[in-house]
Amino acid sequence: MNQPAAPNSDLQLRMKVAACTQILVNQNIMSYSGHVSARLPGRDAFLIQPIDQPRSGLMPEHLLICDYDGKVLDGPQGQVPPAEVSLHGEILRVRKDVNSVAHFHHDLTNSFTLVENVPLRVVKNHAVRWKSGIPVHPDPAHVANARLGRAVVETLGEHHALQIRAHGQVITAESVDAVLNDSIHFVENAQAMYNACAIGRVVPLSGADIESFELYFKRARHVNKLWRFYVEGAQTTGVIPKDWDI
Ligand SMILES: [Zn+2]
Repeated sequence: MNQPAAPNSDLQLRMKVAACTQILVNQNIMSYSGHVSARLPGRDAFLIQPIDQPRSGLMPEHLLICDYDGKVLDGPQGQVPPAEVSLHGEILRVRKDVNSVAHFHHDLTNSFTLVENVPLRVVKNHAVRWKSGIPVHPDPAHVANARLGRAVVETLGEHHALQIRAHGQVITAESVDAVLNDSIHFVENAQAMYNACAIGRVVPLSGADIESFELYFKRARHVNKLWRFYVEGAQTTGVIPKDWDI
């Protein structure tokens, strides 16, 4: 399945990946490294940015199409995928419920992997997404080959995010819009817990708290609300072009 996509058929998805990346940079969640991937519908392939392309200026035409092995199927001449492309490829290969992966290296969120006995917990309502748990992958190495990628997949299990110890975060979701939503809420939850730790003993949300929140929570509507908020904000302030129809 390595024939090029029909002209412009993946343009909107490309715009979404570029917008998500630039918004995460603008929100100080992603920095000079990290990446967002998106599965191409109907193909065993995904979009991901080249290794050296500045995240702050990522445009749709910069993106590569890679297969699950990280092999480049299409993209700008001479560009290669990030060193951690296997992280995306191995998750997308195994987790058919996942269509987009974000990986970033957020220091404050990392801090919960650097200390003993203070695991990152669900303390904010929108963090109920991770009620099944937030595993910590023990190997801090760059996920630089398929073996290391498969190890991350094993740690991830059926969860929707994980922390790589002393390294960074991996967020999985059903769409690029949702991966932006979840990346922002993941960091917000970590910041809230960090703040709470500074003033006292943290009390995570209970099972009953989570049930109560979920009773009236509509994920699709919330993802769309948050996506519109950040995209329109980014277009108004010139972070991304106004004519991106996303
Ligand atoms: Zn990394």
